[in-house]
Amino acid sequence: MTNACGQQDYTSEREALVDELRRDSRVAEQYGAPPLSDTVLASIGTVPRHEFVPERLRREAYRNYPLPIGAGQTISQPYIVALMTDLADVSSDETVLEIGTGSGYQAAVLAGLVDHVYTIEIVEMLGRRAAADLERLGYDNVTVRIGDGYAGWPDKAPFDAIVVTAAPDEVPQPLIDQLKVGGRMVIPVGPVNSVQVLKLLTRSADGALEETDIIPVRFVPLTRDRDLLRDE
Ligand code: SAH
Repeated sequence: MTNACGQQDYTSEREALVDELRRDSRVAEQYGAPPLSDTVLASIGTVPRHEFVPERLRREAYRNYPLPIGAGQTISQPYIVALMTDLADVSSDETVLEIGTGSGYQAAVLAGLVDHVYTIEIVEMLGRRAAADLERLGYDNVTVRIGDGYAGWPDKAPFDAIVVTAAPDEVPQPLIDQLKVGGRMVIPVGPVNSVQVLKLLTRSADGALEETDIIPVRFVPLTRDRDLLRDE
């Protein structure tokens, strides 16, 4: 579909993606995944994913798979973004921390559902670009910071939900410490270059963590500052 300025606005492609995710959700339910809520699907239906991918890949922006975004990183598959958002179980007065801003797409999907999103990206080029794209598109309730998300964002903690979109070997303790009582953390955990497990952690009133394995997933590794230094 083309808008008044003669630009492709991808409305019909976005609607088709939402329908596809709804169908995928029914299939995934048979394998134990929770159903995607209408609220999350509605948010997916409003975010222009084509604005978060490289220009040459725009025509593929509404396909249900990850795409490269530069620096060896990827924008996650829409179904996974929807599932993680759903598991975070957020509401409109809540504050969320995301680790791994990447393209900014997951942050934008969350931004439509919560009060504020704080998001941390370790690759400076990606973080700067995502911040500029989010600002250009009017997501004024997202704050992007460049840094190592392993340490979380202590100044803004505690958070109602934490969504981690890169996989560590183990759940980082600083992130556990920054989760509110009743807060949810959605995080892929497992070895680099292998299948990881998407986990949902919930902090109960006595401080204990309840942990549920959701589905197998494949994410880029959560790198640390020291890994980047080693590459140079
Ligand atoms: N949420 C992103 C997907 C990002 S892929 C999106 O919607 O597009 C994972 C991202 O995590 C990559 O951009 C990678 O650079 C970043 N990352 C990896 N380790 C990190 C760390 N320790 N702290 C912050 N970001 C990290």
